[in-house]
Amino acid sequence: MAATFVLQQGTAPAAVPAPAAPVTQEHGHSRGACSKGLVALTFDDGPRPGTTKPLVRSLRRLGVPATFFEIGEHVAAHPALSRFVAAHGFAVENHSWSHPDLARLRKPGIRRQVVLTQRAFRRAHVRPGNLLRPPYGAVSARVDQVVAAHGLVPVLWNVDSGDWRGGGSARITASVLAQLVPGRSNVVLQHDGVDNSPASVRAVPRIVRAARHRGYCFAALGTDGTPQPPQPLLRATVLDGREGARPVAVVLRLDKPTTVPTSVRLVSVDGTARAGAAYTRLDTVVRFARGVSYAIVRVPVAATGPGGAFTVRVEHPTGLQPTATTLTATITG
Ligand SMILES: [Zn+2]
Repeated sequence: MAATFVLQQGTAPAAVPAPAAPVTQEHGHSRGACSKGLVALTFDDGPRPGTTKPLVRSLRRLGVPATFFEIGEHVAAHPALSRFVAAHGFAVENHSWSHPDLARLRKPGIRRQVVLTQRAFRRAHVRPGNLLRPPYGAVSARVDQVVAAHGLVPVLWNVDSGDWRGGGSARITASVLAQLVPGRSNVVLQHDGVDNSPASVRAVPRIVRAARHRGYCFAALGTDGTPQPPQPLLRATVLDGREGARPVAVVLRLDKPTTVPTSVRLVSVDGTARAGAAYTRLDTVVRFARGVSYAIVRVPVAATGPGGAFTVRVEHPTGLQPTATTLTATITG
């Protein structure tokens, strides 16, 4: 049988419930999503009892990603807190062992700051990412060399909340919002490990709501240390086929329209139903054009036959994140 899949795409939501979003994804924003650009939240100097957990819970409620640059000594003192951050889906990264100005250290001293912190993460059973934030943003050619030699990428910021200096949540919120620049990759510096951190944590929901209202969306830092456009979640469902009556339909629904080219490959794997006998073998790449949020792929079924079931595998997702990688398709007689 020839592969004649009818592909239907559109922007109207298909009748499929929205998937639950993991924390690595932006969700919940509405109009003008990302029209002003991206904002990545980062929190330094933790983990700290009394502030890190409430912050993690607040971020989860808001559905925004964030990166935690932790001090090795604090990780060693509070390994469970560091695990708590990572277990809730947030990136945990290196902020040196004891928070010195790395640019004032010789190479062995810099190395020690990097290595001891990575070891503290290992002992805490936390898998850090590949980023490192130099304390005070102090870098030099020597610092860059040592950091790179450990496979890490230094990450600074361009929005300084100034939260460590003091001030209430209203002032911290206003300071962050005033520094956001449309069209730029905004990286916000806040702290969950300083004395004034409770005020900074209270500012987070206000910052997130106001920034979203302005058209920004929140993004995680990629391995290059820059905010990455949020990937739509792909929810795939299968509508059963009926011999001689209707094809199997694979409905692909994104939780938000695409902003970059995205694609996914669908491949059938025989079960009790066999390709060529009960249905037309499926092997197709579905590309979502910009602004598109759903696609339907129809798989022809035989007019008569034994019916049965086969599997649809969701492979090679590009620019989107599938919530499931295998689906069962049933053909009724
Ligand atoms: Zn710091």
